[in-house]
Amino acid sequence: MKRIVVLGGGESGAGAAVLAQVKGFEVWLSDMGNIAPKYKELLDKYNIAWEEGHHTEEKILNADEIIKSPGIPLTAPLIVKAREAGIPIISEIEFAGRYTNAKMVCITGSNGKTTTTMLTYHILREAGLNVGLAGNVGNSLALQVAVAPHDYYVIELSSFQLDNMYEFKANIAVLLNITPDHLDRYDYKMENYTAAKFRIMQNLTSEDAFIYWQDDPIIAAQLEHIDSEARMMPFSALDEHEGCAAYIDNGIMKFTAGDQQWEIASDRLSLRGLHNMYNSMAAGLSASLLNINDEVIKRALSDFQAVEHRLEYVRTLRGVRYVNDSKATNVNSTWYALESMNEPVVLVLGGKDKGNDYTEIEKFVKDKVKAIVCLGVDNTKLHKFFDGMVPVVEDARSMQECVDKCASLAGEGNTVLLSPCCASFDLFKSYEDRGEQFKQCVNNLK
Ligand code: ADP
Repeated sequence: MKRIVVLGGGESGAGAAVLAQVKGFEVWLSDMGNIAPKYKELLDKYNIAWEEGHHTEEKILNADEIIKSPGIPLTAPLIVKAREAGIPIISEIEFAGRYTNAKMVCITGSNGKTTTTMLTYHILREAGLNVGLAGNVGNSLALQVAVAPHDYYVIELSSFQLDNMYEFKANIAVLLNITPDHLDRYDYKMENYTAAKFRIMQNLTSEDAFIYWQDDPIIAAQLEHIDSEARMMPFSALDEHEGCAAYIDNGIMKFTAGDQQWEIASDRLSLRGLHNMYNSMAAGLSASLLNINDEVIKRALSDFQAVEHRLEYVRTLRGVRYVNDSKATNVNSTWYALESMNEPVVLVLGGKDKGNDYTEIEKFVKDKVKAIVCLGVDNTKLHKFFDGMVPVVEDARSMQECVDKCASLAGEGNTVLLSPCCASFDLFKSYEDRGEQFKQCVNNLK
């Protein structure tokens, strides 16, 4: 019997193990850290053997195939050994893709993946399709394929998931943008990260479509070297939008997909900001390609509820608006957050820097930001860049201290924006934890 080893016992690993077990493989799951109780229960329910807290090498290096959680870097010593031993290493999505014929809408990009995935899922559900949400959001694709299969899936794919995908094929592939992120996992080489993102296009046939943001210089440059049979469906916000399947004309978003042509005024969209126009164009085109009626698409684009921690409005107190954008873990996402601000901003930055270059937001900071509160263990790099550029740059070592400082720095008509440019792991468990603590402290302000 073929032996499958799953590395990592989180959402994707536990799901992959269940699918492998259901399909009759010999399965072993190993996690270096602790496995959450709900995944242990799931593994036990399916009689899957597992270990936590360490990796027993001899039980791993005898695998016929390894399914690796996206959180484990390709450079981890065990992964290097497995590769040297010639064991194929695949991702959970690659594995699950072998056991379903469902239609797949796959979404990647440096920013906007979750928003666009949720928005697309919302439209498909509103259209009455039997659709599952998978990838970085929702339940793992593997678990759904194993126990509750759907006809359609909307899948958020990170570059780490794409790294170990080979035969998997999307029906509709969406590439939102490419800006520097996670370079620590790609030898600090942009070309490696770009190549990982472009794996979303692999195996596309003439029956499939590739939706992408034409205005992105990195995408445009890379496409010159790619020969794909897929239907190319670019979208653009520029005046020059010749040949684009979606574009904006005087505030009206216009779509052409197959025989369908339709439009929606951008002020009817429930999500605000230029970045969300891109996300809405990508989601609208995906839905149109699935022949969903444009009235349904327009209604769904208008009534979609914003995703938590993404430019999420928290409250207004004494004329100060508080906005939680904790998910902004790189410079480009903060760029879009600042772009959408029309009033003076007290900006909370900081955390674990992944090799950030802050020049990208320098112009907005000079124009819109009146004070910065640096919320991190080590704020040296932020001070070096922003001291002197903004009248006030202060430090905070906890969320409580940070929110208190913001409240005293902000005046009527200002916005306090948590959009940190950095990962959260120095002071918080996750970006969700950071956002939740922010909201709690803000809601407790008197
Ligand atoms: P991801 O899943 O790719 O991290 P999210 O939808 O969670 O993306 O959004 C992350 C952050 O990026 C949010 O703070 C949001 O303000 C910003 N953002 C959302 N969409 C885009 C986009 N198309 N381009 C740039 N930034 C975006």
